[in-house]
Amino acid sequence: MIAGKRRVVEEDMKEKEAEVRLHILGARGSVPTDGEEYRIFGGATSCVYLEWNDARIILDAGSGLLRLKDQNMERALPWYLFLSHYHSDHLLGLPMWKPMYDRRFKLTVCGADFQMPPKNAIDALMREPLWPVGEEAFLANIAFRQLSGAFPLAGGGPVAECMRAKHPGGVALYRFSGGGKRVVYATDCELDDKSEKELKEFAKNADIIILDAQYLPQEYTKFRGFGHNAIARACRLLNELGPGIGLLFHHAPEHEDELLLSLEREYRQNNENADIRFARAGEVITL
Ligand SMILES: [Zn+2]
Ligand SMILES: [Zn+2]
Repeated sequence: MIAGKRRVVEEDMKEKEAEVRLHILGARGSVPTDGEEYRIFGGATSCVYLEWNDARIILDAGSGLLRLKDQNMERALPWYLFLSHYHSDHLLGLPMWKPMYDRRFKLTVCGADFQMPPKNAIDALMREPLWPVGEEAFLANIAFRQLSGAFPLAGGGPVAECMRAKHPGGVALYRFSGGGKRVVYATDCELDDKSEKELKEFAKNADIIILDAQYLPQEYTKFRGFGHNAIARACRLLNELGPGIGLLFHHAPEHEDELLLSLEREYRQNNENADIRFARAGEVITL
């Protein structure tokens, strides 16, 4: 083979680096909040949006989903929604999200195989007495999928994988890898020694980890077993996993900006190896 041709073949074989942009649309836990005291970190519940080459990936459908406006939708691209679990703060944006009523919009909704099928959970949310219509009211072209192993996404998207973690009713943590990039979404997961070890393995070499960090120490003592982490424990894990960006997620509804800013300053001083901060609704990170 001539030298030039060999070089072209070798370059083709190398994985092309993925273009990834991550948008925090909602980072509040449990219930949406509102008011001046939530201006910096936001009041909308869990929703993260990933542009990964041509794949469009939404992580959870909390009220933050409504920030993803209809006029920005690129209908020809492959769209995916990954649901961590079906607690209402992770689903409540869906009934009022306009693309769900657009016949031209195609979406694959994914849950994990150890959970109830996502179609049933969404139907329960949409039906009386919670909502008056049922899942059949959606006009979009929706496919449902329950992940058991690796799931390669279309449009040059990553391979999606999930891990079961501790939360009332169970929760799926997701890992997206491809084109030299890795993103891990781990909300509503209460760490214990076993799951911390598993998550460390799962999140190894991630460029960014979004991790549940809801409680102050005194709150954790009171709410142990509710399925969320003390902020200090989440920081410790992120620091051990570093380098990479660690985003503390699922902020308690009563934690106002001033408190989160002062905690962030304090933890960042003590965790120099990783870029650890509280997720801010509206922030965009290019990987
Ligand atoms: Zn939650
Ligand atoms: Zn939950």
